[in-house]
Amino acid sequence: MAKIQKTITPVDGSVYVERELASEAEINSTLEKAVRAQAEWKHVPIEERAALCSKAVDAFVAKKTDIAQELTWQMGRPVKYSPGEVGGFEERSRYMIKIAAKKLADIQVEPKEGFTRFIRREPLGVVFTVAPWNYPYLTAVNSVMPAIMAGNAVILKHSSQTPLCAERFDEAFKAAGLPEGVFQFLHLDHESVARVIKSPQTNFVAFTGSVPGGKSIEESAVGQFIGVGLELGGKDPAYVRADVNLDHAVENLVDGAFFNSGQSCCGIERIYVHADVYDKFVKDFVDLVSQYKLGNPLDEETTLGPMVRTSAAEYVRKQIADAIRDGAEAKIDPKLFPADKEDTPYLAPQVLLNVNHSMSVMSDESFGPVIGIMKIQSDEEAIQLMNDSEFGLTASIWTTDEDEAVKVGDRVETGTWFMNRCDYLDPALAWTGVKNSGRGCTLSEVGYEHLTRPKSYHLRTSV
Ligand code: NAP
Repeated sequence: MAKIQKTITPVDGSVYVERELASEAEINSTLEKAVRAQAEWKHVPIEERAALCSKAVDAFVAKKTDIAQELTWQMGRPVKYSPGEVGGFEERSRYMIKIAAKKLADIQVEPKEGFTRFIRREPLGVVFTVAPWNYPYLTAVNSVMPAIMAGNAVILKHSSQTPLCAERFDEAFKAAGLPEGVFQFLHLDHESVARVIKSPQTNFVAFTGSVPGGKSIEESAVGQFIGVGLELGGKDPAYVRADVNLDHAVENLVDGAFFNSGQSCCGIERIYVHADVYDKFVKDFVDLVSQYKLGNPLDEETTLGPMVRTSAAEYVRKQIADAIRDGAEAKIDPKLFPADKEDTPYLAPQVLLNVNHSMSVMSDESFGPVIGIMKIQSDEEAIQLMNDSEFGLTASIWTTDEDEAVKVGDRVETGTWFMNRCDYLDPALAWTGVKNSGRGCTLSEVGYEHLTRPKSYHLRTSV
C-alpha cells in the first residue's frame, strides 16, 4: 500500500495537503525517463532551451496570486509578502537564462600550430534537487533552472512541508512545452532520497537544507563519485560600525532578522554594535520590532506569521529561556503580541541583550524570530566574534566607509560579504558558504561550473 505524506499547515494546524509517496517502481521509471530525455535534450541548441525556459517562467509568473496563497498555507509566510517569492524566482531564472549562452560556450585556448584545441562544457546528466520549505521556490530554482539550461534533466524532491511547489514547477514546464522527462518531480521519504542518490542514473545532487540533512545526503553519495552541492545553515552576523547610517541599518537589520519569522538561511542571527552608537541602535531597533503584527498569515495586516511548526517554535522558546536564565535581558514583552501562544507555532519576536557566545542563541542556528545584540569596541573585536562560529554563509557591515568595509571583509570567513545590505541573493554573484554552511555554488557564472563537466578536445590537424 502506498505511503501517504501529510502536510500540516502552521496557519491552524490542520492537514493542508496529502500526497502519496513514490513507489520503488515509480522512482525507477522516473530515473529511466530522465536519462532518455536528457540524451535528446543535451542536443537542443541553447537558444531553444532559453526560449522554453523563459516560457516556463512566464507561465509560473502568471499564477502568482495562487502560488502566493498556497505558499502561505504551506509554510506560514504572511500573504502580504509571499508574492515576493515569485518575483525572486523570476529574477533568478531570467538572469541564469540570460547568461547561459556565454557561460556554456566552448573555452578556447591559445592557438598552437597543427592543433585545434578547446574545452567543451558537457551537461552532467541527471541532476537531483532536494529542496527545503523556507524559501521553497527560491532555493529550488537556483539549481533547477540552470541545470536544465545546461542540458541536464532534473528530478526535484521538495520538502514534505511544501510539496505543492514541486507540482507548480512541473505545471510551468508543461505549459511551456518542455520535452517530457527533462523536468520531473517525486514525493519521497528520506529512505527513497537515499535510493535516488545511490542510483547509477543520478549524476549530481543539489541539496539545500540543514546541516544534519546535508550529512545524510553526503553519506548516501559516498562511493558514487558524483558531485554534491550543499547549501546549508547559517548564523549570519552583522557588524554595526560607529560611522553607520543608523536609520538605514536599523530598518534593514530588523527586516533581516525577522522577515519570514527569522526562517531565512541568510537571515541576521547576531548583531555586534560599536559602543558609540549602541544605545541609540538598541532603542530604535526595539521600537521597530515592537511594531510587528503577529497573527494569521492570511490576514493582510499580519507582518509576522507563525513559525513553520510548533516544534521549531519550542526550540526557539527554549533558546530564549536558557539565555535569560544565564543572564540575558529580554527587551520585548511577549504580552505585546497576543497571538503568541505556547504549544503553537505563533511566537513573539524577541531581542536579547547581555548575551555571549556560550549561549545557544548566539552560536546555534535559531532559524526563528529572535536576535542577540552585543556591544563591541573595535573592528578587531567584531572580526573575532563574527568568525567565532561553525557557520559562514553571509556576514554584513554597516558603515559609510567602503574601503574599511572591504578590509574588514577580507578577514571574515563567509560566502558573501555585504555592506549596508543583508538577507539577499544577487543572481549575478556566487551563492556559496564556508565551514558548515556548505560547499559548492549556485547562481552567477560560477554556478554553471558545477552543473557541467569539462571535456577537452585535442585535435592534431597536421598529419
Ligand atoms: P532539512 O530538514 O534539512 O530538509 C531539506 C530537504 O532535505 C527537504 O526536502 C527534506 O525532506 C530533505 N531531507 C532532510 N533530511 C533528510 C535526510 N536525512 N535524508 C534525505 N532527505 C532529507 O531542512 P529544512 O528544515 O527544510 O530547511 C531549513 C534549513 O535549510 C536551515 O538550516 C536553513 O539555514 C537551510 N537553508 C539553507 C539555504 C542556503 O542557501 N544555504 C537556503 C535555505 C535554507 P523532508 O521535508 O521530507 O524531510
